[in-house]
Amino acid sequence: MLGLMMNRPLLISQIIEYAAINFPEQEVVSRSTEGEIHRYRFVDLHARTCQLAHALEKLGVKKDDRIATVAWNNYRHLEIYYAVSGIGAICHTINPRLSADQFHFIVDHADDQYLFVDLTFVPILEKLQGQLKKVKGYIVMTDRAHMPETSLPNAHCYETLLEGEPERFDWPEFDENQASSLCYTSGTTGNPKGVLYSHRSTLLHALSVVAFPGVDFGEDSALLPVVPMFHVNAWGMPYFALFTGSKLVFPGPRLDGASLAALINDEGVTDTWGVPTVWLGLLRHMRESGERFTTLKHVQIGGSAAPKAMIREFQEDYGVEAIQGWGMTEMSPVGTVSRPTPSMQRRMSAEELLNVRGKQGRALLGVELKIVDADGKRLPRDGVARGELLVRGPAITSGYYENAAANAKAFDEEGWFRTGDVATIDADGYMEIVDRVKDVIKSGGEWISSIDLENEAVGHPEVAEAAVIGLPHSKWAERPLLVVVRNPDSTLDAKGMIDYLRGRVVDWWLPNDVVFVDELPHSATGKLQKVRLREDFRDFRFSDDRDNGST
Ligand code: AMP
Repeated sequence: MLGLMMNRPLLISQIIEYAAINFPEQEVVSRSTEGEIHRYRFVDLHARTCQLAHALEKLGVKKDDRIATVAWNNYRHLEIYYAVSGIGAICHTINPRLSADQFHFIVDHADDQYLFVDLTFVPILEKLQGQLKKVKGYIVMTDRAHMPETSLPNAHCYETLLEGEPERFDWPEFDENQASSLCYTSGTTGNPKGVLYSHRSTLLHALSVVAFPGVDFGEDSALLPVVPMFHVNAWGMPYFALFTGSKLVFPGPRLDGASLAALINDEGVTDTWGVPTVWLGLLRHMRESGERFTTLKHVQIGGSAAPKAMIREFQEDYGVEAIQGWGMTEMSPVGTVSRPTPSMQRRMSAEELLNVRGKQGRALLGVELKIVDADGKRLPRDGVARGELLVRGPAITSGYYENAAANAKAFDEEGWFRTGDVATIDADGYMEIVDRVKDVIKSGGEWISSIDLENEAVGHPEVAEAAVIGLPHSKWAERPLLVVVRNPDSTLDAKGMIDYLRGRVVDWWLPNDVVFVDELPHSATGKLQKVRLREDFRDFRFSDDRDNGST
């Protein structure tokens, strides 16, 4: 028997209508690309989004058309999110840090019709546009006064397009499974793969994030997504900020520690989300300047493992709760969040609680997790057994966009998505990432977690960043090499580093060698690029294995 409930679709346009009706005076504050701080209210956001929807229709944009953005986090980008998806077209956010080849590949592969471009990125697009033959036109995200002379063909000025358009729009209704946005994974090998979100998955994901225990976004909250809107919809923040009535604060192009600290305190930010690299910069600035946070309550760390030293510093030095989240582009992206339960808070020591926060955490509603062995057999949830992590849920991809080759490998026989991460899950449901399948170090038949080693290494006060890779060893098959970026003025040497690690990790995990470098390679989304690092150290021989000629 089916339920007797109205079968109304979940649509992104409902969020902006809801926000304008219920929280008309709430603010959106942006550091604009032109430099100054811009602020307006949800009613203004709504009116301008409607104007943009009309303008898009005038440009001939239709349902299913892919409309790309190359932009920072700011109010115009937010208007594009809502207007494009709202009319049934697909908002394709592009990471501006991609290589020219990857950029060209994804614009072509997605068949983008128009590109919205922030001022900063106009020169990049001018260089590329000769190759982007199918693009019909470009919209520069600025006003008349700042509109540059540009060689981009069919270039429009954003503010001019909106002028005179009506401030109401009759949003069309369609199936909630209609595609709403598109984001390509920043794969370390091969071409990027497209993940196509739907209206339904976007709403379910955003709702499940705010339903997580302890999340209390509301009209008193001010949310700062440092995580870019060009990568997986800024983890859903542009959606749930609006329907929870939270103030939204956008950092624009200024992501350095000093600019972020100023924005956080000036705008009363309570919650901010971003990757560990960004928080390293913010914490360094706080340490050096002696500034304090006046309103910040929570910082969400995701995208890469959150070092325990970072979680501890936020909590102990600044009284800010650091919450780790794990996810993937393919998962909309949030899959798990790590917060100790109230009962853990009562019975555990500070150190034990830090260990819980160091895990990647419990699944959101609608996200199922399983770990399996090499034969695909389920492993127990005992916190010890480690295996590949697979996931399933309504906001998880059912297949990459137009990519049969990748899809053939991405799922198991039951349709679960293979994450490529190795993890444990404990009896309380807390998942902990041990490594990427490709990065785990197999030493004498046993596994060493490169993430755990990195986590411990960055706990050293003189270490800015660390990466561990497995390299061939004639006796052990593979052994860990630790590659370290020191803080300025540090005199830390290899012996000092190993002495520090001894006792913090089991002896057989200790890296065979430590190498110091000026910087580590990062992907377009700020992740360590281990593939490149392994490439850089291809000819490296461990000091205890110098006669080994093999690779
Ligand atoms: P992306 O799709 O580019 O966001 O990358 C997803 C991958 O980032 C995951 O499969 C993990 O390997 C890694 N990742 C994301 N969040 C975390 C986290 N909190 N801890 C460890 N790895 C993470």
